[in-house]
Amino acid sequence: MNSECIFCRIISRDIPADLIFETDSIIAFRDINPKAPQHILIVPKKHIDRIENLDENDHCLMGELVYGAKLVAEKLRLDDGYRLIVNNGADAGQEVEHIHLHLLGGRKMTWPPG
Ligand code: 5GP
Ligand code: ZN
Repeated sequence: MNSECIFCRIISRDIPADLIFETDSIIAFRDINPKAPQHILIVPKKHIDRIENLDENDHCLMGELVYGAKLVAEKLRLDDGYRLIVNNGADAGQEVEHIHLHLLGGRKMTWPPG
């Protein structure tokens, strides 16, 4: 828990969010500024700022994020596909320094991303 971190504050219910689901180790909630009809953030409860600071014990946690994305997509009936994105570091435009997976769906995506 990092009290300066917006996602840690959502996890601790210090600030509200539109929750989709939660387990002991991850949480999923709607992005406050959606970039697609369905835009969900899937977030580990453990505060880790960037991919380079994962340790070897965190690989299961990252797998749980991807499995969480599968459960979100099923719940939202995104049968025609969706995109999963990790913005990592300054060049990728990471705004919140707590690792998270974006799930975008409900419209046709373009490639490559900008
Ligand atoms: P990043 O650029 O770090 O990959 O994405 C951070 C995402 O968090 C952005 O899409 C932004 O809209 C979202 N976000 C930032 N603050 C909040 C918040 O307080 N609540 C929610 N639900 N989403 C947030
Ligand atoms: Zn955090």
